[in-house]
Amino acid sequence: MGEIVPGVHLVDGTNANSYISIDDDGIMTVVDGTISPKPTPIINYIERELKTDVKGVKLLVITHCHVDHTRGVRWLKELTGANIAIHGDDADYLSGIKAYPYPRGAMGLLFRLSSPFMRSRPVKPDLKLSDGDLVGQLKVIHLPGHTPGSIALHDEKRKVLFVGDALRYNGKELRESPGMFSYDPNLSKTSLKKLIGVDFRVLLPGHGQPMVSSDAPAIVKEFIQGLNIDTNSR
Ligand SMILES: [Zn+2]
Ligand SMILES: [Zn+2]
Repeated sequence: MGEIVPGVHLVDGTNANSYISIDDDGIMTVVDGTISPKPTPIINYIERELKTDVKGVKLLVITHCHVDHTRGVRWLKELTGANIAIHGDDADYLSGIKAYPYPRGAMGLLFRLSSPFMRSRPVKPDLKLSDGDLVGQLKVIHLPGHTPGSIALHDEKRKVLFVGDALRYNGKELRESPGMFSYDPNLSKTSLKKLIGVDFRVLLPGHGQPMVSSDAPAIVKEFIQGLNIDTNSR
């Protein structure tokens, strides 16, 4: 995919999506790692497409603790020495201090059975984020639900919004993250309301494709307002 808007890149061949954001001083931030322990696509992209040194990466910001977003982070940290930043409510899962709470029901059982194969090596975060914090030039919006510490990141200057797994976009329509993967699907819907009123023209989801449109905030608002939120469940 490459450069989406000046200074913001989607790296091909990762799963989930990894983004690179380069600020005006040339400092690189990577948003989310790869599902593979070795984040080769990110390293290749920086060296071959951006033609620069991976040591220019100073921040590794993680939208939430799921392995498809975090596995490559440890390797990137060792390679670059960059600071790892994650919301405080997901930090202990990343560092392995706490075991991640599995979803309830059949999906939870599946997770439990597959977990020995899906485990990632723990890595200690350097920065524990809270709602409203600035990390580099990205502002943290806490969206608990998909995981307790899920966040979106808003680049106010470039009008870019990284949403992690809070929303996905397939090029045609928006979706929520599948409820079966979420810690609290209903809270996830409620949290999305915090995105109404945020000023952006580029929506960057953790899975699927970027949405680049001046209508993006209106499209997102309409989608969120159409969600069926069960107010009795909490
Ligand atoms: Zn996830
Ligand atoms: Zn994901």
